[in-house]
Amino acid sequence: MKYDYLIVGSGLFGATFAYCARQTGKHCLVIEKRPHLGGNTYCEKIEGINVHKYGAHIFHTNNKEIWDFVNSFVPFNRYTNCPIANYHGELYNLPFNMNTFTQLWGVRTIEEAKAKIDEQRAEALTSLNGREPANLEEQALCLVGKDIFYKLIKEYTEKQWGRPCTELPAFIIRRLPLRFVFDNNYFNDPYQGIPIGGYNVLINKLLEGIETNTNCDFFGEFKDSWREIADQLVYTGPLDEYFNFRLGRLDWRTVTFKTRVENTPNYQGNAVINYTSHDAPYTRVIEHKHFEMFGQAVYNCPKTVVSEEYSAEYKPGMEQFYPVNDERNNALADQYRELAAKEENVIFGGRLAEYKYYDMAPVIEKAIKTANIIFLR
Ligand SMILES: Cc1cc2nc3c(=O)[nH]c(=O)nc-3n(C[C@H](O)[C@H](O)[C@H](O)COP(=O)(O)OP(=O)(O)OC[C@H]3O[C@@H](n4cnc5c(N)ncnc54)[C@H](O)[C@@H]3O)c2cc1C
Repeated sequence: MKYDYLIVGSGLFGATFAYCARQTGKHCLVIEKRPHLGGNTYCEKIEGINVHKYGAHIFHTNNKEIWDFVNSFVPFNRYTNCPIANYHGELYNLPFNMNTFTQLWGVRTIEEAKAKIDEQRAEALTSLNGREPANLEEQALCLVGKDIFYKLIKEYTEKQWGRPCTELPAFIIRRLPLRFVFDNNYFNDPYQGIPIGGYNVLINKLLEGIETNTNCDFFGEFKDSWREIADQLVYTGPLDEYFNFRLGRLDWRTVTFKTRVENTPNYQGNAVINYTSHDAPYTRVIEHKHFEMFGQAVYNCPKTVVSEEYSAEYKPGMEQFYPVNDERNNALADQYRELAAKEENVIFGGRLAEYKYYDMAPVIEKAIKTANIIFLR
C-alpha cells in the first residue's frame, strides 16, 4: 500500500494536517512513538477525571476561524483561566489586577492602586541612579515595584529558571501588564475553553477514518525506507533528531509532574494555583477536575487528581517542552532549518520540528495553512 503522506507524530500539527489531507482525498498513515495519540494534549482518565498528562492545556484564541474549526469537532466548555498565587499561605488573584491590589494593600480605588504602584516604581528607579536595569530583578522592580515583585514574581521566576533573578537578563521581562479593573481572566483572547469530554475527543475526531499506528518510532522503523511507502513525509518530531544530531543538540526546558489522587471532591477549589515562594519546591499545583466541572458539579465526583509541576533542566530522555531561545540555540536551529529546506518531499511542522513554542490555536492554524498551500495550489 502506498500512502500519499506518512505523518510522523499525532499531536495537533500532525492530526490537523492529516484531517486536511483526508478532506482532499489523500491517503495518510500517522505514526506515533508514544502509546497514545494526541501529542502533548493527551489526557488520561483517572477517577473519571481527564488528567492533562503533559501539563495543563487551556485553549484560547482570538481567531474566530480556528475557534469555529475546533468547535465543529467538539463543543468547548466555559472554562476561564483565573489562576491564584499562594505566597507563604497568602492568596492573591492573578493576573495582576484590582483584586490583587486590594489583597496586597487594601486599596479600594483605581487612583489608590496607581499611586501605590507609582510610589514603588519611583523608589526602584531612584535606586538605579540613572542607569539601565542590569538584570531581571532590577527590571521588574522598575516595572511593578517591590511588593508585587517580591511576593508574586521573584521566587516563582527563580524556580522556573533555576537561577536568582539577579543573574537573569533584564530582557526576559519586557512588560508586566497591570490591569486596573477587577478581572481575573488570565487571557485577553475572546475565545477560551476546554473541549467537552477532553482533548482526546478533538484528536480522535480529527483522525477519524485515518490509519494510525502508536508505539511506532519513525527512527526505528521508517527513517531509511519511508519513500517506499509514501510520496511525502510530514515530520513533527525534533528537528535535530531528524538529522541525527549531526550539528549538535538543541537545548530545551522541561517540567516534571507528580500526580496523585486525593480522597476529597475538592482539594484547592481552582484549576491552577501558582506557588510563588521557595518554601514550596513546585511552581504550580493543578487540580484537573476544575477544567471540566464547575460549581456544585465538582462534588458529583468523590475524588480529585492533582499534579505538582516542577521546572527542570532538560536532559536527553526527558520531555522536550520549551525551546531555549538563546544565541547558541537560535543559530543552531537556523543551521538545521537550512538542512531541512533541502530535504525533498519533507514538510517539517509543529513545535518540535520548527524548534518554536506554539500555543494550540496557532499550531492548528499553521497546519491548516501548510495544508492549504499544498492542496489548493
Ligand atoms: C507544559 C506545556 C503546557 C502547555 N499549555 C498550553 C496551553 O495551556 N494552551 C495552549 O494553547 N498551548 C499549550 N501548550 C502548547 C501545546 O502543547 C502545543 O501547541 C502543541 O502540543 C503543539 O502540537 P505539535 O503537534 O506541534 O506537538 P506535539 O503535541 O508535541 O506532537 C508531536 C508528536 O510527535 C511525536 N513524535 C516525536 N518524534 C517521533 C518519532 N520519532 N516517531 C513517531 N512520533 C514521534 C511525539 O510523541 C508527539 O506525540 C503547552 C505546552 C507545554 C509544553
